[in-house]
Amino acid sequence: MTPSQPTRRPTDAAYGDRETKYPTELLNLPWIDVHNHAHTLSWDDRERYALAGCRAMVMVASGYHWTPYKPVRAADVRYLWDDAINRRPAIERDHFVEAKLGLGIHTGVRIENPDELLGAMGDYLELEEVVAVGETGVTPSQHVSRWELDEQRAVVEAQMELAADHDLPVILHTPNQSSDSGRSYRPELGTPGYEKNPGLGQDPVIDGENPALEAVKVDVEAARDAGLAEKRVVASHADPNNTAYLMEETDCYLSYTIGHSWLIGVDAGDVADAIEAYGPDRIMVDTDCANVLRTDPLALKRAILELYRYGIDPEAIRTVVLENPREVFGIGG
Ligand SMILES: [Zn+2]
Repeated sequence: MTPSQPTRRPTDAAYGDRETKYPTELLNLPWIDVHNHAHTLSWDDRERYALAGCRAMVMVASGYHWTPYKPVRAADVRYLWDDAINRRPAIERDHFVEAKLGLGIHTGVRIENPDELLGAMGDYLELEEVVAVGETGVTPSQHVSRWELDEQRAVVEAQMELAADHDLPVILHTPNQSSDSGRSYRPELGTPGYEKNPGLGQDPVIDGENPALEAVKVDVEAARDAGLAEKRVVASHADPNNTAYLMEETDCYLSYTIGHSWLIGVDAGDVADAIEAYGPDRIMVDTDCANVLRTDPLALKRAILELYRYGIDPEAIRTVVLENPREVFGIGG
């Protein structure tokens, strides 16, 4: 107790450790979100990224969620790419965040004529604003229309070849095991917070004990066959189900998606565990924020504070949220 306490009797403050230094540098630490769909968010949500210190982001323009027609045709995905290219400069102008693009072919729903997209993709990858291919990666089960595994794999591998040719990293969509809450929602309602026509999920094309992990293994094999260095693969939606495999048997980066923890069960605690177990050198964090989901544009900033609270050093936090994304995507410098 400090003798100079003016309070009538000792308060909690008198027992505090006045020597503790708090990591004030984290309040202004710039960060990079390597996987979001911010072009689908509201203006206010994008402003939240800016206010929270986001330096740069990769806005991923792929995904069946935003195409009105199912099954999807090449032209529908092409529209998504063009829409993002069209709107990106205004987003940078309005919020001062460096907003770059990831373009790819998502396999969450079958695309009728993917070769047409693959044929056009090379020219898109020449654009200076395109810094990644993706998100892509084989998916165990599709929405609306099944896509056989060998066909999906061919589309993923072809994108990886393009990425290797254009010296771009690939953002992998790694499937998560759904966290079992013990209850399911009325089938006609689906999952609240996830805008999706319920009941249209198709039978899986990957069987076995652990289809989510099998899918990642197929992707890594595809990268090897495509001649894409594993260091150029960023496995987004990394989780406890795929961390050991990716860390111990590959050189891929792992990006933990923490913008919709309520859905996939991954949060800053998982990131802290991974940093403690494997060091920060191949770890990133992303939000995957999108308008079709209940997501939090402040999630990455919150994770920075949370990682410190969980015992991670500011130096390692900086590596994970800034240095690694800079290195791999060449943005936010
Ligand atoms: Zn995404």
